[in-house]
Amino acid sequence: MSCFSSCILPPSMLGIMGGGQLGAMFTVAAKTMGYQVMVWDPDPEAPAAQFADVHLCAAFDDSKALQAMAECAAVTTEFENVNAQSMRWLAQYTVVSPSGECVAIAQDRQQEKEWIAKAGLKTVPYRVVCAESDIDSHVEELLPGILKTATLGYDGKGQIAVSTIAELKSAFAKLGQVRCVLEKKVDLRAEISVVVARLDEEHTVCFPVAENQHENGILAYSLVPARLPLSVLQQAEQMACRLAQAMEYRGVMAVEMFVVGSKMQLVVNEVAPRPHNSGHFSMDACISDQFQQQVRIMCGLKPAAADLLQPCCMANILGDVWPLQAEPNWSVVLNHATAFLHLYGKKQVRPSRKMGHFTVLAQDSEQALQMARALHLRLQSGAQEFCSTDVNLS
Ligand code: ADP
Ligand code: MG
Repeated sequence: MSCFSSCILPPSMLGIMGGGQLGAMFTVAAKTMGYQVMVWDPDPEAPAAQFADVHLCAAFDDSKALQAMAECAAVTTEFENVNAQSMRWLAQYTVVSPSGECVAIAQDRQQEKEWIAKAGLKTVPYRVVCAESDIDSHVEELLPGILKTATLGYDGKGQIAVSTIAELKSAFAKLGQVRCVLEKKVDLRAEISVVVARLDEEHTVCFPVAENQHENGILAYSLVPARLPLSVLQQAEQMACRLAQAMEYRGVMAVEMFVVGSKMQLVVNEVAPRPHNSGHFSMDACISDQFQQQVRIMCGLKPAAADLLQPCCMANILGDVWPLQAEPNWSVVLNHATAFLHLYGKKQVRPSRKMGHFTVLAQDSEQALQMARALHLRLQSGAQEFCSTDVNLS
């Protein structure tokens, strides 16, 4: 593919829907490559706004802002609940990736599961629950299970664990009787994710598989390489590519998978139509990172190589490490030779809010996890911490 006619090159203006941390990291990547960036986010303090050339500080249904985005050379999104209809409308005037169609699939667990099946891949056993009458004797085989709203759930929100039909009925009522999927609760051997950067069939690159550990429903650590047999990792990458292919996906997509039971069967849990928290390790540990890939692909450029340079562990920094009225002692991370800090510049601290992350490089992912845990613990007790030398993690 020759680039001179079809590629969008610097200093073109790129547009992004949403200006949270994912939008901020995208903006930095794009600016570094010489592009200009227009960020659309109604929050005057949106993290991406500090890096963007233009901040459209307007509601997401503002027609003037939509017109302004249509004038960008290409448009992408940082959040999955972007208005898919707006993405479709924009596609008449500019290059939009991912497409409104793909975004709509990722917004809906039912559609997502149907596409996973269409791609010939497995999900956990499930059933759609639209009304109380769907809760009949057939669902018993899915108990104990998890009832999840079909749309708008995230970070463990919008889902309730249920063990009996009675619990299921009351969970359905609690979730407002909106369309849900009931999933069988499976024996999770591990949780993994694959970030895929896909331009077209010939140009698809996967980042190495991340092994994810959650705490209270929120991602806490991502280890790479995942501590699983090579054959499982290869299969996971193939599955992610296959799903992206089936969806004719153009852009960066994260595919979350469960490794189930002693046979380590892989099932697809859900997809995100954008870079993903579990792919942040790529910024410090890979040849390219997921935000550079997002820029490249929206511009019609081939994805870069995404090989791992060193084993690592990414740790999320939530608002809970903020001591009252003070700033955590960042020297704990910044004084460490192989730890790399990323703070999102959010002014409002809340205990479960994602405020930043850091990535630790080590000999292997197990060691990286131990180091990341130790650093995280020191951040949590950081108010008293005095750290002028490297943290001793032996
Ligand atoms: P979210 O959109 O909140 O990330 P997920 O579907 O990924 O929703 O569920 C959140 C977490 O709940 C998963 O990471 C996993 O730990 C657990 N979980 C979800 N579904 C199942 C299931 N069917 N069986 C076992 N654990 C599950
Ligand atoms: Mg999830």
